[in-house]
Amino acid sequence: MTSWPVDPPSSLWRLLSREVFSAPALRQEIRADIVVVGGGIAGLATAVELRDRGHDVVVLEAAHIGHGASGRANGQVISALTRHGPDALRALWPGKRGDRFIALVAGSADRLYGLIERYAIDCDARRNGWLQPAHTEGRARRVAALAAQWAEAGAPAAAVDAATMSARVGTDAYCGGWEHRGGGHINPYAFTLGLARGAAADGVRIFETSPALRLTRQGDLWQVETPAGRVLAGKVALATAAHSGDLWPDFRRSLVPVTSYQAATPPLGAFADTILPGDEAASDTRMDLRYFRKDREGRLVSGGALALQLAAHRRVSTLVAGRLAKIFPGLPRRPMGHVWSGRIAMTTDRLPHLHRRADGLVAWAGCNGRGLALACAMADVMADALEGVPDEALALRPSPPSPLPLHGLVARCARLILPWYRWKDAREIPFPPETMKRTP
Ligand SMILES: Cc1cc2nc3c(=O)[nH]c(=O)nc-3n(C[C@H](O)[C@H](O)[C@H](O)COP(=O)(O)OP(=O)(O)OC[C@H]3O[C@@H](n4cnc5c(N)ncnc54)[C@H](O)[C@@H]3O)c2cc1C
Repeated sequence: MTSWPVDPPSSLWRLLSREVFSAPALRQEIRADIVVVGGGIAGLATAVELRDRGHDVVVLEAAHIGHGASGRANGQVISALTRHGPDALRALWPGKRGDRFIALVAGSADRLYGLIERYAIDCDARRNGWLQPAHTEGRARRVAALAAQWAEAGAPAAAVDAATMSARVGTDAYCGGWEHRGGGHINPYAFTLGLARGAAADGVRIFETSPALRLTRQGDLWQVETPAGRVLAGKVALATAAHSGDLWPDFRRSLVPVTSYQAATPPLGAFADTILPGDEAASDTRMDLRYFRKDREGRLVSGGALALQLAAHRRVSTLVAGRLAKIFPGLPRRPMGHVWSGRIAMTTDRLPHLHRRADGLVAWAGCNGRGLALACAMADVMADALEGVPDEALALRPSPPSPLPLHGLVARCARLILPWYRWKDAREIPFPPETMKRTP
């Protein structure tokens, strides 16, 4: 099932973006070394890396650049995974295998901000740090340990005590936590457009409104068909994330696409100065997490998920307004100014997965909600995988896709896990990553 004809409401970021980009549809037969399918951050960063290495690259985007999660995200730049810290990663992947991947995650925000600098992308980039405030004492202790692990891995990370967190977030709702000073926030839509602009200027050929409909082998080449054209190329990179269709059915069925909602307050005027006065981004320790950052006009941009999608935008507006009011009791009670949604590619073990076939088809997905920085760093891995670097030397080891049994049902029911998350958040039951399923 493909999703590209469906265009969910667009984001606040689109209205605020000063970056513009457009590209024609593909209307002829062309040749390239490598075709990248998907014009989000993952596809574009991969295309830039491949171009830097001397390849002739074509990007096909089904809708418009930034149509997917990349244009709809909250915009927090986070060099850490949702669940696994360095110790958990080393336990899963001992030795160099774990070390390489930890280094990739640790350096991921540098990659993103490096691209902003390289192409002078006008995306309201701030790099004042990322905070993870803890909602209970137990979580505060756990994330302090996590901060120590990331610091040992070379990241600018440190535990933050309760009083400091209170001052930095602008609320007494938290009991400390940790910070990653390499993080920050961006307008993700503007970043994606700027990346496309830069990639095109460097010689990547980009086509919008050009969905890859079919992949077939023509001798040694791949033929990628779009409605009005086709590309013949030696290799194909799939960067279709939660929008993946049946180009590689097992890949699609190994992912769980989850709809996530975003909501922005109207501009808060002087009150905005009391929230995150240092202009960091923040995501707390709940499993059904609260997260927020400001935009350049003093809106507070947050979000949330819903177990049931009925009247979703109205309910998200109420849900997010209520949650923000609890965290920031003085917040003026006004309806949300903007509500939109996007789709996140989740994996059952909450880790990104890389897949490579002998015939030159490579794919990765599984940002699990933290993919802006990761997608930039994964560009190296994708390029290495496409160039034939051996499995054991890749920063993320490839595995065959594991299609989920009853995938359609799992995808439809995934959000029903939310009440369980809320129950766990309220009970503060530890959920150590070591108990999670191992990946090959
Ligand atoms: C609401 C929301 C909030 C988020 N907040 C954050 C955050 O604050 N920080 C963070 O780090 N991450 C966040 N994320 C995750 C982050 O946005 C993603 O990890 C990242 O943008 C994924 O980029 P991508 O390029 O892999 O996928 P996408 O941006 O989804 O791009 C995939 C593209 O592939 C295209 N496509 C699909 N099929 C085809 C086809 N057959 N032919 C051609 N093109 C095709 C789609 O149209 C789409 O444009 C959030 C995600 C969502 C949805």
